[in-house]
Amino acid sequence: MAMAAHLVYADAQGRMYDHPYLEMVGRTGRDFCRIPADELLPLPPGSDLFVLPGRRPVGYDRRRRRLVRAGETSDLPADAQAVAAFMAPAHTMSYLAAYTTLPRAPVLPLFAYTAVGWRAGRFWVAGWRSDPDVRQDIQLVDCDQVERGVRQRLAAEPKNRLLQHLSHCALTYGCPAARNLFLGRWEAPLPTSPGCNARCLGCLSHQPQQRFPAPMQRITFVPHPEEIAGVAVPHLQEVDQAVASFGQGCEGEPLLQGPTLVAALQLIRRQVSRGTLNLNTNASRPEVVATLVDAGLDSMRVSLNSARPEYYTAYYRPQGYGWAEVVAAIRAAKAGGAKVALNYLILPGFSDQPAEVAALRELIHQTEVDLIQLRNLNIDPDYYLRGIRWHDHGRPLGVRRMVAHLQKSFPGLRFGYFNPAWRG
Ligand code: SF4
Repeated sequence: MAMAAHLVYADAQGRMYDHPYLEMVGRTGRDFCRIPADELLPLPPGSDLFVLPGRRPVGYDRRRRRLVRAGETSDLPADAQAVAAFMAPAHTMSYLAAYTTLPRAPVLPLFAYTAVGWRAGRFWVAGWRSDPDVRQDIQLVDCDQVERGVRQRLAAEPKNRLLQHLSHCALTYGCPAARNLFLGRWEAPLPTSPGCNARCLGCLSHQPQQRFPAPMQRITFVPHPEEIAGVAVPHLQEVDQAVASFGQGCEGEPLLQGPTLVAALQLIRRQVSRGTLNLNTNASRPEVVATLVDAGLDSMRVSLNSARPEYYTAYYRPQGYGWAEVVAAIRAAKAGGAKVALNYLILPGFSDQPAEVAALRELIHQTEVDLIQLRNLNIDPDYYLRGIRWHDHGRPLGVRRMVAHLQKSFPGLRFGYFNPAWRG
């Protein structure tokens, strides 16, 4: 196998190095493995590199044909720290970063930890661009223009609390969707729900156990239908291929605000017929989904860590609903004529397990979803696999082979990363 790239690690002070001869290694499930060179990609702009606390790097020695852990050789010191990449949006990981975890190491915060190496003067990551859409490419963001957009929209609607909330998301969090709203392009966010009926291990907006911080604060109010329409209508009227989406990282579950969403959808569709109205959801309420589609919803994206009820339930910890409701909600949306996407949260070694792929195939076959969004599961892999009590022992297919297998099995099924504009 050709040399993929050199191991990247950091010293005790956090300074990063490429190793003179050890090869970068990946992880799939709980196993370390070499990475084929053709599965590497130059580190995409807008990505981050993390030094992982309490984690020691693992490399591969081609001469001795074996894995090498920190401290096993003089030129990889025992206190070397592991490094991982958090890839920019539109990129899906195929291998996790490889490291050993020290006792009492802290749980890592909510990011996806992709294997990273060094070759030919640059960083390389184990992933690929899974969507050509450039809507969240950092090179296309002009922060001054975002600020101008915020001022203009707030001047036009100074009392709109949802616009005020989103201006905070755009200027403070740098949320790509909120930025695009104020840049007047692509997909706009419509968060509405302070509460949720799930307790996801990796919830981005609510982490009661404080093992790690929730990267986003949840919206604290339910906007009025008029405030929601005030955000969405100008966007749908003015933007080509516009999308406006309920269900954002900074909220709970939008289906809990069914009556508000129905009123907002009707208000919006009375004023503008173009653009796509989308719902990102945990699909817990099939009856509400049916009313939303009747009211004008065009598409629905259902987030899943697994197509197996056991692991879905262990991760989502649903309150008052279960796997059956999720499948029924997908069917309700399809029956009403809406497009449905699965927001499939990928963890290499788990998602490409034969049993998982078989379950996903069955779900696609049963429900005829239109799109699989290949997202990375943003969580500490060990915390996740412990949390779902993982017990698979199959040989993973490889994430890219899994996708190729599904593409071959379902020629009409789309694959990507973002919510498409299903209507002009
Ligand atoms: S469904 Fe969404 S908001 Fe609810 S707990 Fe899960 S990640 Fe958080």
